[in-house]
Amino acid sequence: MSKLLIIGCGGVASVAIHKCCQNSDVFTEIMIASRTVSKCDALKEKLQPTTKTVISTAKVDADNVDELVALINDYKPEAVLNLALPYQDLTIMDACLKTGVHYIDTANYEAEDTENPEWRKIYEERCERLGFTAYFDYSWQWAYEDKFKDAGLTALLGTGFDPGVTSVFAAYAKKHYFDTIETIDILDCNGGDHGYPFATNFNPEINLREVSAPGSYFENGKWVEIPAMSIKREYDFDGVGMKDMYLLHHEEIEALARNMPEVKRIRFFMTFGQSYLTHMKCLENVGLLRTDAIDFNGQQIVPIQFLKALLPDPASLGPRTVGKTNIGCIFTGMKDGKKRSIYIYNICDHQECYREVESQAISYTTGVPAMIGAMMVLNGDWKKPGVFTTDEFDPDPYMDALNKWGLPWVVVENPTLVD
Ligand code: NDP
Repeated sequence: MSKLLIIGCGGVASVAIHKCCQNSDVFTEIMIASRTVSKCDALKEKLQPTTKTVISTAKVDADNVDELVALINDYKPEAVLNLALPYQDLTIMDACLKTGVHYIDTANYEAEDTENPEWRKIYEERCERLGFTAYFDYSWQWAYEDKFKDAGLTALLGTGFDPGVTSVFAAYAKKHYFDTIETIDILDCNGGDHGYPFATNFNPEINLREVSAPGSYFENGKWVEIPAMSIKREYDFDGVGMKDMYLLHHEEIEALARNMPEVKRIRFFMTFGQSYLTHMKCLENVGLLRTDAIDFNGQQIVPIQFLKALLPDPASLGPRTVGKTNIGCIFTGMKDGKKRSIYIYNICDHQECYREVESQAISYTTGVPAMIGAMMVLNGDWKKPGVFTTDEFDPDPYMDALNKWGLPWVVVENPTLVD
């Protein structure tokens, strides 16, 4: 018997909401609240006849703490699932603290205005201190640890696939397969084809900012930063085949480095086709990935936001995308005095996802773990006061839920390693 407020009604939220509605025993009531309420109403109209979950909708500006507080006080959920953008993480956390409800999200905080001098000062100090320059990091949300602890509330951060499931895989490997993990390689492969010359699979602004930034990995207690796309490997992915993949900075590296200090090296690779990279380089070179406002005919526009308006809506890619994703982690380390290596991964088929929830696999592989994370908090399996990432709890109930709710995984011993 749980009541959940879901903020955002985009690609990921749509899948999470479908899944909550399939799981009515846990999610007896949900509210979908977003900036564009018509999207929430349309989803409610489609899903309400198919589910026992009672759905309501509301309009909210999640940048505004007072509006959020008023909505939460009115609806009285037990938890808020934030599926808006990383820009809204802190305002939603503030509202949860003010109203005494648990908080769950899928991506760590990122500032929308990276030219803001106050934010920039803290950011530059962090770049210097930690050695990576990504605009997103956990420090902002980890700073809420005492507030959530004192309030007796849970904040579960980053319960998508990566971050999210990949960190659960790490906790599972540590619990069942290793005495010590020495290296972790997280491999995110999308073998899907949507037929457009260029499109992003989730929010273009967030996606392009992530991909065009310098890469980094964690080795022997330190960050090593490299120019964007400068480390490339090939890997033969089960269910997909041979793909080029590139080393990126990714947020779960930061959490795993903190929470599993014995691990000597943590890297993240994502596959990209040559056409995607050529388009991205060109957009970057002409200035369309800029995140600062420019004056255009007397109007202020942010180039990357303008680009977003031109690109296909990620939600529209579902019916066109064919192929599979394969996302997982390769672990090496020691067990009972012997070297061991395993690969835990999930394969997800774009068209099967579309048939089930009318979304492609990228939204599906994020939306399902978002529902599972919310379920873990609401049913008490993962409820404890403080701010946590998904590697900090017992992985077993989450791993069982992945099998049950559409993201089955396998464990392979002695996989091909990435050099
Ligand atoms: P979309 O752009 O499709 O959806 C974002 C939604 O948030 C939209 O409904 C949008 O409303 C709403 N929104 C934006 N700003 C506000 C605001 N100020 N107030 C209220 N609502 C707002 O994004 P995605 O669904 O692709 O991504 C959602 C989240 O999932 C992001 O944080 C993303 O980083 C994360 N993600 C995580 C992954 C993981 O594996 N961990 C992978 C992929 C994504 P409107 O309709 O008006 O635009």
